[in-house]
Amino acid sequence: METVRTRILPGQLKGCRTILAFLVPILMACPVAAQNTRPYSGPIFDAHLHYNIEAVQPYPVTKVLGMMKDAGVAAIVANSRPNDGTKALAESKGELTKSGVQIIPFIRLYRNRDDYTNWFRDPTIYQMVENELAAGTAAGAYRGVGEFHLYESQNANGPVAKKIMQLAEARNLVILAHVDDAAIEMLYAHAPKARIIWAHTGISGVPASRVVELLVKYPTLIGELSYRPGLTDGDGLLSPEWKQVFLSHPDRFCLGSDTWTNGRWAAYGEIMAGYRVWLGGLPTAIARKIAWENAAGLFGLP
Ligand SMILES: [Zn+2]
Repeated sequence: METVRTRILPGQLKGCRTILAFLVPILMACPVAAQNTRPYSGPIFDAHLHYNIEAVQPYPVTKVLGMMKDAGVAAIVANSRPNDGTKALAESKGELTKSGVQIIPFIRLYRNRDDYTNWFRDPTIYQMVENELAAGTAAGAYRGVGEFHLYESQNANGPVAKKIMQLAEARNLVILAHVDDAAIEMLYAHAPKARIIWAHTGISGVPASRVVELLVKYPTLIGELSYRPGLTDGDGLLSPEWKQVFLSHPDRFCLGSDTWTNGRWAAYGEIMAGYRVWLGGLPTAIARKIAWENAAGLFGLP
C-alpha cells in the first residue's frame, strides 16, 4: 500500500491551531462528543426477568441459558408465572453450571393472569408465598418477591400487599415492584427497611427529579431501568439528564430484560446490546455498578 505524506506549511499550521482553539472548547462542552462511546463490555446482572409458561416450549432452559451467556449475563433474578418456570431454571443444575449463570429465585404472586389485579387483597396469595418460602428451590432459598404490579397506587394499602411488605422486611427478601411513585411511598410506609427494586423506575415517565427525591428519601430503593422513558435519545445513547442522575447516584440503579412476552426473549441479545451502548456513555466504574455490582451487592454475590 502506498502512503501519501502531506506537508503542512507554517501558514497552514497557524490556521489549524486557530481552528483547534475554536473547536476544542465546543467539543469538551458537548456531552455527546465527550462521551466514551465504546460499549460497556463487563458482566450484566439481569435483575428483572420472567420465564413465563408461554416461553417454556419455544425457549427451553438450555436455550435461555445459552442466550444469557452469549449476551454476557452472569446472573439473573428468576421469576415466572406460575412459579414452575423459576423452579425449572433452578433445577437445571448441570446446564446452569455449564452456562456460568447464577440464578436468584423470586416468588411470583401470579398463578394466572387474573391474579395481576387481585393479589393485593387475596389471602390465598399470601398463603402461596409462605408455602413457596418453606419449600425453596433446587438453587436454594427464594431471595425475593415479585414482580408484582399495582395499576392503582391505593392498592398498595391492600391487606395482602401490606403483609407481604412486612414479611419481606422481616425475612430480608427483596421486592420487585412495578408501581408508580405514590405507591413506592405507600409500600415503604408498611415496611420502612424493606429493600425494593423499582421495576422500570416509573414506567409512565415520572420526572427524573422525583426519582431522585425518592432515592434520597428511601436509601434501600434501587431503580431497574427496562422501559424507562427518556433514558436514551434517538440514537440509543444516554440522555444528558439521566447521565447526570447516574453520575450523582451511581449505586442506585440496575438493569433488567423484562422478558414478559416471547418477543422480549426473541430480542434478548439486542436488549442487552442496547444497554451496553448507553452504558458506554458513563465512566467504566459507574457502568459496571449499574450493570453488575449494584444488583450483585443486593444478593451478596461477589
Ligand atoms: Zn416484568
